Amino acid sequence: MPTTVKGIHHVTALARDPQENVDFYSGVLGLRLVKKTVNFDAPDVYHLYYGNEVGQPGTILTFFPFPDAGRGKRGAGEISAVSFLAPSLSLEFWAVHLSKQGVRFDGPVTRFGEQLVSFEDPEGMRIEMVFADGKDSGESSWDGGAVPRDSAIRRIRGVTLMLRDRGRTEEVLTGTLGFRAAGREGDHFRFNVGEGGAECAIDILTSAGSPRAGQSAGSVHHIAWRTPTGKEQLEWRQKIQEAGLFVTDVLDRNYFQSIYFREPGEVLFEIATDPPGFTVDELPAELGTHLKLPPWLEPERTRIERALPPVRVADTRSGQ
Ligand code: ZN
Repeated sequence: MPTTVKGIHHVTALARDPQENVDFYSGVLGLRLVKKTVNFDAPDVYHLYYGNEVGQPGTILTFFPFPDAGRGKRGAGEISAVSFLAPSLSLEFWAVHLSKQGVRFDGPVTRFGEQLVSFEDPEGMRIEMVFADGKDSGESSWDGGAVPRDSAIRRIRGVTLMLRDRGRTEEVLTGTLGFRAAGREGDHFRFNVGEGGAECAIDILTSAGSPRAGQSAGSVHHIAWRTPTGKEQLEWRQKIQEAGLFVTDVLDRNYFQSIYFREPGEVLFEIATDPPGFTVDELPAELGTHLKLPPWLEPERTRIERALPPVRVADTRSGQ
């Protein structure tokens, strides 16, 4: 049986306008759009994947932009913030860059010994930028975008869960998924997973009286943890069942295989395989430039393309 998940695979969120989403995550935050596909369960809606140069697990943030979606309502049982990791020396760059782009940020503040700033994306999703170095775990940041390589986002550092109660969630994190309790600072209870400088953190905040979150644009939908193989994923499935949680069958997401379960605080967790990755249907140099469909949706391509609004990645190459 596996003892610990290997860190974050990806985070998926809900949005409204696909072009606004691309303009912010590619044009302002400098991530690479590594895959333009559709929501496999609702193919009239995009599924946009952002990441580093090749979209390595751990760097991936994805969105379902539903053009008619209203704003999500903040509350308990959801991920209330997503943290990126950027080099410690890039704080000044980001402060200037965000200001220039009209993004108002809070901070810097220090949490668990690291400086961070926080801001909202165009839909109100809370983003934190943590400035720390750690050992590079091989991520190659993307310098074809709005941010020069030496300041570029390295990967997703972690998420914050907003829960009514943290007891049973902590049990699943430490007892089932292999997280290590890393103490408390203020209201934040931290749990780490991953090794070799690729450490990921979950912070838990609690608010017993909070209403339940209502998910819509600006809400994080789920977080996926990494597993290296399909074989280990099946072992995870068994282990999660043995912990008394309902877990889905293995689903084919074309770029990875997935299982999903709700942790006791009602946040949706996924365990996703590293292979095959985003170069399975597009050359590394062309990632994100074509509308890619899984084989079972190819017969519907004409109809799907007609229903989707066009999106364009602006040429915001750093220095221009
Ligand atoms: Zn996912």
